[in-house]
This record gives sequence, C-alpha cells and structure tokens, in this order.
Amino acid sequence: MKYLLLIPDGMADWRVKELGNRTPLEVADTPNMNFLAKEGSCGLAKTVPEGFEPGSDVANLTILGVDVRKYYTGRGPIEALAKGIKGKLVFRCNLVYVENGIMVDYSAKRIDDEEAKEVIDALNDAIKYYFVRFHHGTSYRNLVTIDGEFDENVKTTPPHDIQGEPIAKYLPKGKELARLLIELMEFSKKIVPEVTRKANMVWIWGGGRMPNFPKFKERWGVSGAMISEVDLLKGIGRGLGFEVIEVEGVTGYIDTNYKGLARAVLRSLKHKDFVVLHTEGIDEVGHEGDAKKKVEAISIYDEKIVGYLIDRLDLEETRIMLLPDHPTPVRVRTHVAEPVPFLLYGWKKDDVNEFNEFSCKKGRFGLIDGLRLMELMFIK
Ligand SMILES: [Zn+2]
Repeated sequence: MKYLLLIPDGMADWRVKELGNRTPLEVADTPNMNFLAKEGSCGLAKTVPEGFEPGSDVANLTILGVDVRKYYTGRGPIEALAKGIKGKLVFRCNLVYVENGIMVDYSAKRIDDEEAKEVIDALNDAIKYYFVRFHHGTSYRNLVTIDGEFDENVKTTPPHDIQGEPIAKYLPKGKELARLLIELMEFSKKIVPEVTRKANMVWIWGGGRMPNFPKFKERWGVSGAMISEVDLLKGIGRGLGFEVIEVEGVTGYIDTNYKGLARAVLRSLKHKDFVVLHTEGIDEVGHEGDAKKKVEAISIYDEKIVGYLIDRLDLEETRIMLLPDHPTPVRVRTHVAEPVPFLLYGWKKDDVNEFNEFSCKKGRFGLIDGLRLMELMFIK
C-alpha cells in the first residue's frame, strides 16, 4: 500500500454572502475531491491546538503527528531547517511595505527572487553586528539568524495578520532581544528602499531556537517524501526525515506548475511509501480576500492536482488523505483555528458524497484531534 497526503493550504472557508451564503469549496467545481469523499470516509479535524496561533507551521506539524506543545519553537527555525541554515535563533524576515505607519503589503507585491536577494545582500553589507545575518528564502519570505547569547522569549506578530493596521502596536515585545529586533527593522528602513520599490522595510517575527522533531519513519514505519512550494513545509519535511523534492517552475500561487507538482508525486510514490503534496496557491487567494478567485483556485486544484493524480494512480493500492491545514476565510483574509474537513480514501466508505466544510461534519470520523490523523492514515 502507498500513502498520499494532499494538503491544499487554506482551502476551508466560511459561508460567503456574495457566493449565495455558500463556501468557496461548496461553490467550486470539485468532481474529483467529491469522488474521493464519496468512496472514502470523512470528518473534521482540529489542526490547531488550544492556545496556538493558526499558522501553517503549527497546523501542518499537527497533521503529521508532531505535538507542537512539545516541539514547536517557531516558523523561522523550520524554514531554516529547509535551507540548511544554522543559527542559535532564527526569525522570519518578511519584506513588507509600510505607509504612514500602516502595514500595507506583507508580501512586497510578491517581489521576485532576484530582487529580493539583492535586498538581502544589501542588508548584510550594511549590518554592523557580526552575529546577525540575513538569508534569502523565497520571494518576500526571508530569514534572519542571531547567534548572540539571548535566551529570553520575545512576542512577535505575523505581518499578514496586521494588514491595514498601525505597525507600532505590533512591534516585538520583550526585553533585550525585542529591542534588537526593533533596531534591525529600523535599520532596514534605510537600506531596503535603496534597492527596491516593492518593499520599504523588513518585518521580523516567528522565531526561536532550532527544533528537534521525532522522525516519521521511526514512528510510522514508512519512508516519506515532501513536495511543497514553500520553505516552511520543506523544513518540516527535513525535520521529520523525509526526502524533500524540488519542483521547477512553482510559484506558490494559482499560476503554479501543477503538472510538475503532480508528476513529482507520481515519481516519488514509486520509491517512497508516504508522499505529502502541499500547495500554497489557494491560501494566498484567501489572504487576498477574493471569493470568486478562491472558487476558481479550488476548481483548478481539483482538476490539475486531484484529477490528474487519480487518473494515473493505482487506486487499489493507494490510500489518500486530503485536507487543508487550516481555513483562510476570504472575509477575514487570515488563518483561523477552526476545524477543517478531511477525507480518507482507500479504507472504508461512509455516507458523505461531497467534500466540503458541512458535508464532512456528518462523516464517519466526526470531529477529531488533528494529532490523530496519521493514526487514521495508517489504520488497519
Ligand atoms: Zn496563509
């Protein structure tokens, strides 16, 4: 048996007025996901434990059976794992656009890698501290490592949660380390606009010490591969001991290289037991707050990923689980911690015929703790 885990980031949503009080997933054309739901079993999973922010890091770790209450130290460290970057403390370092003290764009108009790298190089050239280093990641998503002796906690805020709000309220809070982070952000205001017009400072958040996750194979007895467009998931994959597969021409958006991603799944399943495909585009459209575009993004995903795969997989020999990591409702344009619908194909059937937020509630599994999803994936 082979095991495939499909994670369309941020797909779940709320009812949207302009969609006739239905969710984007209900409105989208999803014959392939509906087929899997109809032939499989469904439920709702709580992927964000109580007291945690609904980040993709926390939700995806939970899905993969890692108890974040024990192992989570922040998003920056996970992305650093993905890049093989070392440092005592690692933070996310977004390129952002701030106007009159208001966070206008957390993603620097999706700045391209070349321009983003120029900005990062300029920051490294100008920084006066030998223990601070900026690292280019993907587009606006970059990192900063701090190798000084700071062992205090600092409270930071994701920039995508404060779009349209004054940044002064959300600067890092704490003692010495918080002051350093604020100083770095101040410093960046001089450097960043000299290189690009898409961003005018960095926003530092989501950091901590490097984590040490339990290895997936030791726990579940299967070899794994991670396919994703974003560093975050590659880092989780590496931390769990998976092979991390790179796919050319991916964008992390709805114009991504779907065929490349789907083909990578088919290839990986030949030599691995368990393959994860995480895709980012639907979440990004959720953050844009465009309901119609989200419907379109979901329909495309259903056809170009799910449909493409089920046409080519040996369905007798493949178990498939599909779920978003968290909802990204277009109404609030950010992640929420509510349970997400999930389906498990290749085990038993229930009465659910469609895959969406409401149908799955009536499924065989009911509402479960997301930490139990991998138990279901490998259930006898
Ligand atoms: Zn998101």
